[in-house]
Amino acid sequence: MTITELPATTATALDDPDGALAWLADEADRLQQAGLHREPVVRQQGSSLVNLASNDYLGLSTHPAVIAGAHAALDTWGAGATASRLVVGTTALHVELENELADFLGFPAALAFSSGYLANVGAITALAGRGDLIVSDTGTHASLIDGCRLSRARVVVVDRGDHAAVRAALRDRTERRALVVTDSVYSIDGAPAPIAELHAAARDNSAALLVDEAHALGVRGPGGRGLVAELGLSGAPDLVVTTVLSKSLGAQGGVVLGSAVLRAHLIDRARTFIFDTGLNPAAVGAARSALGVLRADPTLPDRLRDNASRLASAVGAPSPAAAVISLVIGEPQPAVAAAARCRELGVLVGCFRPPSVPAGTSRLRLTVRADLDVALLDRVAAVVDDAVRGVGVR
Ligand code: PMP
Repeated sequence: MTITELPATTATALDDPDGALAWLADEADRLQQAGLHREPVVRQQGSSLVNLASNDYLGLSTHPAVIAGAHAALDTWGAGATASRLVVGTTALHVELENELADFLGFPAALAFSSGYLANVGAITALAGRGDLIVSDTGTHASLIDGCRLSRARVVVVDRGDHAAVRAALRDRTERRALVVTDSVYSIDGAPAPIAELHAAARDNSAALLVDEAHALGVRGPGGRGLVAELGLSGAPDLVVTTVLSKSLGAQGGVVLGSAVLRAHLIDRARTFIFDTGLNPAAVGAARSALGVLRADPTLPDRLRDNASRLASAVGAPSPAAAVISLVIGEPQPAVAAAARCRELGVLVGCFRPPSVPAGTSRLRLTVRADLDVALLDRVAAVVDDAVRGVGVR
């Protein structure tokens, strides 16, 4: 693949300096000055860039069996789901995937959404509403934040990791119902949340706990079953797990796992399930095959974690709890410059800036893969070191 930038946004004759949208140009200038302007990276065939910016942790997006799974689904079911899940957008394949994921992750039931983002928004808004309390934290993914906002519940946000504050917020509430939401492994830096403590706090205060395992599936736990399984909490009745098909499984989509009653409730009430076209059959077929690959080789996550430890130590980062390595640079401009230097040297890394991370903590984000060999990891480490030194961080 080669990488090209989209053309920078430029003023055209259609831009009306007095029009209702004239502020957009000023806003674009402001973002540009602050180093916060973004452009999608466009992948092209044939590049030799090493990709450490994807979430394809196990390298399954290009695994022959996974591609074959997508092809077979396409041949059988066509290019689209053709309607929302409740109308005719549910194929037998969707149900098989849900059953297989529920079985793999140790929950009675699962429901697939067309993205992880929509799974989180749908689950939270179906579980909490006006007159309820949600306790969240400062590290949660945007999809959890947006679910909280849309729910109209009262939302208390505590510092990431502060499970005592979660307990206090639950204990001191006036609302009858409460929901705690958290990532299991934080997407920004791969650190684990205190899931066992959060679960105990929720259980002791008659609250439910929703855990997003997006970055833990295929990475942590026995055979890649995630952090909830690692802690022996799979199937706990007051626990809702969400996860994605778009990272370790190399496909696309989101899933909510819990009881059969929860599944039925989401079908009745989750607006992102009801009003959205069903998950694309090709993604379902790919995800099923990817799950099969993971089941057949439970050592894949071990290889991923070994690679992550090796790369983290080579770039001077703390030993990671998952597959994400975060190198804090500080201001956005040097972070952008360091990422650009990595790309010049043949390595594609993520560059996270506000609002994805707090001000002053712009960073390079490296996501490791199980299918990278040691020589390549060492080359990546040398490139990253060069780039980070180049912006004066070392
Ligand atoms: N949760 C977390 C923690 C994530 O990192 C992401 C993806 N960035 C999502 C949910 C959303 O998943 P998807 O990309 O499948 O919509």
